[in-house]
Amino acid sequence: MHEFDTVVIGAGVAGLTAARLLAKSGQSVVVLEARDRIGGRVHTDRSGAHATDLGASWIHGITDSPVAEAAAAFGMQTIEFTVGGYQPNSRPIAYYSPNGTRLSDADAARFTDDIHTVDETLLETVAASAPDASYRDVTEAALVAQGWDEDRTQRVREYLEHRAEEQYGAWIEDLAAHGLDDDAIDGDEVVFPGGYDRLPAGLAEGLDIRLSHTVTRVQWSKGGVTVTAADDPTGERIVNAARAIVTVPVGVLRSDDFTFDPPLPEINAAALGRLTMNAFEKIFLRFETAFWDDDVYAIRQQGPDSRWWHSWYDLTPLHGTPTLLTFAAGPAAREIRDWPEDRVVESVLAQLRRLYGARVERPIRVDITAWQNDPFARGSYAYMTLGSTTADHDDLATPIEGVLHLAGEATWTDDPATVTAALLSGHRAACRVLGREIAVAEAWR
Ligand SMILES: Cc1cc2nc3c(=O)[nH]c(=O)nc-3n(C[C@H](O)[C@H](O)[C@H](O)COP(=O)(O)OP(=O)(O)OC[C@H]3O[C@@H](n4cnc5c(N)ncnc54)[C@H](O)[C@@H]3O)c2cc1C
Repeated sequence: MHEFDTVVIGAGVAGLTAARLLAKSGQSVVVLEARDRIGGRVHTDRSGAHATDLGASWIHGITDSPVAEAAAAFGMQTIEFTVGGYQPNSRPIAYYSPNGTRLSDADAARFTDDIHTVDETLLETVAASAPDASYRDVTEAALVAQGWDEDRTQRVREYLEHRAEEQYGAWIEDLAAHGLDDDAIDGDEVVFPGGYDRLPAGLAEGLDIRLSHTVTRVQWSKGGVTVTAADDPTGERIVNAARAIVTVPVGVLRSDDFTFDPPLPEINAAALGRLTMNAFEKIFLRFETAFWDDDVYAIRQQGPDSRWWHSWYDLTPLHGTPTLLTFAAGPAAREIRDWPEDRVVESVLAQLRRLYGARVERPIRVDITAWQNDPFARGSYAYMTLGSTTADHDDLATPIEGVLHLAGEATWTDDPATVTAALLSGHRAACRVLGREIAVAEAWR
């Protein structure tokens, strides 16, 4: 006799969705969570005057989005903010030239047209790429095919580097050629002025969730699973169940602190070996006054000075407080990882001064994330390393002997690295455990 029908490891969106669907179907379910809170990489800080989403903030396209449906069911307020996919011109953006002057509308339109032209060529180039090609390889081929002069080419090259970093937190040469294949936005994007964490809070209602339970070992056989957790403060906790759904991030799965006994089968292990966690941090700067351009969603800088700090998102509409969000992504995130806050802020402000001169103020509040240093995330989300194909995501979730199921953002091929991926992977795992389909909407009905 097992203690539980299913043990779910991790109380992020994937784990909570799976647990909620199984509990609703009449199973006895326990969720073991290492942190002293739920939500995982959906995490809202409320220590200031406003809710600040330190993890996920966007629904990247609300058309047919289950996350949008869940958010509506949980009464979450949204604001349209369709610049979360590093689109060149989805909404008004102030572009600045390499020398710090704002591009005219005509020059900005020429630049964004060039990006769309390269993107069209890129589709074929990616499809024809070698198995170990990088995103740099395919974007270079697409750029060369245009026959443009060096300056024009370089502006678009920079944009493509920045897109790889902002979308996947990876340097363009480390990201697989297919690494952005599933990066599609369907419909408007929205953010949550009241905080994204209302989503996991809604999913968690009524569940048996054991916080501060850090799982170290998952023993499995055809007969079931035995999970060992370091239970703070009482010591060790052993849970046995007929099945387990493991939703910890790829960074934890790849670490020595989390073991499967016996090890994962080859198909899961090989896929895991080709996915890795990125480096992607958010920097929120709140000011007394807005010194930047009016009526734009974002500000972008071109040229050599834009290597690290190139894009700022105007979050003022969320709460009425003048706020800019920028990202340290890829190499910049790795470099600033151990910098004190003041040094990071000074580095960002130096770049802003190139655009706005003495108008740039000191921020009145700063929030900088540290997902790379977080032992239960080890980065922000997974990306495809060289040699990886999009199928690696689904392969990672291949069911193991009917008792062990992996879920989480990195296990979902169609739009991985998102809350949507986490939610749908949790739904898939629950269906596999039940051996039948159940509507995902049951998680919020
Ligand atoms: C800075 C940042 C920005 C992002 N922006 C967006 C965005 O705008 N839109 C979007 O859709 N997505 C975004 N994402 C990605 C999104 O947050 C994730 O894809 C999603 O939340 C992952 O959910 P999950 O359930 O797969 O994993 P997680 O949320 O990581 O859940 C896994 C859980 O497992 C727990 N855990 C880890 N180790 C153990 C252990 N040993 N024992 C027990 N429990 C353990 C963790 O604490 C965590 O609670 C962003 C992420 C970050 C970090």
